[in-house]
Amino acid sequence: MICHWLKRKGFCKNMKNFIEILNELPKSELHVHLRGAMPVSVFRELLDEHSSEGIKNLIPPQYFSMLEKYPNICPFLTALSWNEKDVQNLFSYSNFDQFLATFFFTSFFIRNAQDFRKLVYAVLEKLKSQNIVYAEITFSALEYMKSGVSLAEIKDCLEETRNFPGMEVRWIVDLVRNNGVEVVMDLLKQIIAIDCKNIVGITLGGSEHHFPPKPFEKVYAVAKDHGFNLTVHAGESLGPQSVWDALLVLKATRIGHGVQSIHDPKLLEYLANHKIALEICPASNFRTSVIPKDQEHPVKKIFEAGVPVTLSTDDPTFFGTSLVEEYAYAASLGLSNKSILEILQNGFQYAFLAEEKKKKYIQELTAKWQSLL
Ligand SMILES: [Zn+2]
Repeated sequence: MICHWLKRKGFCKNMKNFIEILNELPKSELHVHLRGAMPVSVFRELLDEHSSEGIKNLIPPQYFSMLEKYPNICPFLTALSWNEKDVQNLFSYSNFDQFLATFFFTSFFIRNAQDFRKLVYAVLEKLKSQNIVYAEITFSALEYMKSGVSLAEIKDCLEETRNFPGMEVRWIVDLVRNNGVEVVMDLLKQIIAIDCKNIVGITLGGSEHHFPPKPFEKVYAVAKDHGFNLTVHAGESLGPQSVWDALLVLKATRIGHGVQSIHDPKLLEYLANHKIALEICPASNFRTSVIPKDQEHPVKKIFEAGVPVTLSTDDPTFFGTSLVEEYAYAASLGLSNKSILEILQNGFQYAFLAEEKKKKYIQELTAKWQSLL
C-alpha cells in the first residue's frame, strides 16, 4: 500500500528513512476494531480448529447463497480443505459488499472464550510490534456473545489486558447501530452491569445510512451518566449532518472518521473551536470507497482547517494497512514534519486518558522524535 501511495505522489527518496523513523516512534492507535486487526495466521488457526465441526455448523445455511457469490469466500464453503493461497486470497476484494461479506464470514470462527483470548492477545502482540504503546481497541461485544462467549468471559479477558507488558490497552464497545436502539440500549445496560474497569468508551459502527446517530440520543445519555467516553462513527459515508447530530445530539467528544466534515466549513470551524478530534483512517476510506480512489484524501485540508486530526487503521488486516502506512500516506500529501509530529501527539492528547498520562506519553514521543530527526 505504501508503495502505491508513494509512487502515485512521485514521492521523495527520503521516505524510506522516514518510515523507519515512524516505526521506531512510540505511537497511539485510537480507532482499530479487534476483529479487523486479526492476524491472518490467527484466522488460519481458527479454520484448522473448527473445520472438523463442518462449515455448515459454523455458518448458518441461510447465509450460504449470499456468501457463495464471492470468489474469495467460496473455497471455504465448497471444499473440505483449503490451501494457503485461499487463505491469503480471502483478504482481497474488489468492492465494499465483498469486504462486508468477508468480514461477516470471518466472524463465525470465534466460537468460545479461548478463541476470543487468542484473538485478543494476537492483536495486542501485533500492535506492540509496531511500537504502539497505547491502544484503544473497539470490539463488538454482541458478536462474540452470539457466538457463545459470555460477557463474564469477555470481561475477564479484557481486564487481564491491563497487565499486558509494553503497551497500555483500553477498550471501546461498538454497540453496532444495525442492532437498533432497543437492542443497543439493552447491551449497554449489560456492559454497565459487568463493570469492566478498562472499557472506557462506546461507539456506534455499522450502517450510517440506515441507522443515523440521532435516534441513539438516550443510549448516549445513559452511557455518559455512567462515565463512558463517547465517540461515534459519523461523517464516514453520510454527510456533515451526521457529524452535527453526533456532536449536538449524542454529545460525542470524538468522532470516528468524520471525513465528510470537509464539505461544511462551519462544521470544520466548530470541530476546531471545540477541540473535537477526528479519528481519520485514510486506507479504510479508500477501500470502502467513501473517498473515491482517484481523489486525494481530505485529511490534509481538515488538518489545515485547525481540526484536531488523529490517524488510525480501522480494520488493518482487511484493508491491508498499518499505522505507519497511514502516517506515510499523510506525509505523502505534503504535510510537514511538524504537522506529522502534531498528529502523532494528538494520538495521545485526544486519548481517553488522564491528563498526566497524556503528558507523559507526549513527552516520550517528542523526545524520541527529536533524537531521530
Ligand atoms: Zn471503525
